[in-house]
Amino acid sequence: MENKNFKTWLENMQLNHPLVIAGPCSAESEKQVLEVAHELKNTDATIFRAGVWKPRTRPGTFEGNGVKALPWLQKVKEETGMLTAIEIANANHAKLAIEFDIDILWIGARTTVNPFAVQEIADAIQGTDKIVLVKNPINPDLALWIGAIERFHKMGVTNLGAIHRGFSSFRKSKYRNIPSWQIPIDLKAKYPTLPIINDPSHICGNREGIFEISQTALDLKFEGLMIETHCNPDEAWSDAAQQIKPNRLVEIMDELKVRKPRFEKEDSLSKLDALRKEINAKDDQLLETLSERMQIVASIGKAKKESNVAVLQNTRWQEILNSMIEKGEEHGLSKIFIEKMFKAIHQESISHQEKIING
Ligand code: PEP
Ligand code: MN
Repeated sequence: MENKNFKTWLENMQLNHPLVIAGPCSAESEKQVLEVAHELKNTDATIFRAGVWKPRTRPGTFEGNGVKALPWLQKVKEETGMLTAIEIANANHAKLAIEFDIDILWIGARTTVNPFAVQEIADAIQGTDKIVLVKNPINPDLALWIGAIERFHKMGVTNLGAIHRGFSSFRKSKYRNIPSWQIPIDLKAKYPTLPIINDPSHICGNREGIFEISQTALDLKFEGLMIETHCNPDEAWSDAAQQIKPNRLVEIMDELKVRKPRFEKEDSLSKLDALRKEINAKDDQLLETLSERMQIVASIGKAKKESNVAVLQNTRWQEILNSMIEKGEEHGLSKIFIEKMFKAIHQESISHQEKIING
């Protein structure tokens, strides 16, 4: 999939900072929308976001002002010159967004999970030159995210980008939606010309973490940020805990460091070269060690076969894992990393022994 349009559009904006999409979680009233838009117009934010139809977990809460709010966004555009962005979740939303000349349409995380809904929207906006940003699905499924993007591309929507808003997890964590950075990194590797916007607000679920997540996103060369902004966040009708005031957005943008895409001549490349050679040598050693370890695993597999003993030896496995976590921590390696790495090694060992035992 070639997707150069949104990238080119971004480049033509010649911003000296990442693209910033800001505005409230929900368009609550005309007054609220215009108030925050006027506060944002002199900041780095060039696109104004506001939810018009809100996907709420339970019914009976505020579900957005709907079509009534669309003229408010037209006013934002007229009065501030900012572009406007809303979430669309069905063909009717799509039709109305285009009728009211909204500039950027985003697909919410709860919609990306549903290929029927995505296809319905893609059919409704076929061939549009509007920018369409596809949020990641709620669950950490890269293929589902890519599938949704492809559905739009197939219908002639080429001004495409992605929004990374984190993933739902049963695991307890400090995030509302865990970032799982490797997933957007994999998306970038697959589609290098597809711009990715980071949404720290829905990742954090609180105000305190916004800066840190935004900095990580810039360190990973994300093209932009979408940050929920409200003049009176505590009183917001949705997502009150995570919205920040426009002046905090200004502070955050001032503090964020934008990194160069790559090393340049003056950056003492010889030292870097030497360090990268060392890394390569260590990686070779790692591979050799893993391969030697797997040969021992194979011998144990043969012994298990001869004595008809089960592949999984849970007590032994727990001993290895706990001891490696403890030793890893002594070496400054995080528990999460050691767990992931040894679980992967153990899984590979099991399938190796399975092959030996079952031929
Ligand atoms: C939003 O951006 O307000 C929103 C509902 O986000 P998500 O689809 O990421 O939950
Ligand atoms: Mn929100």
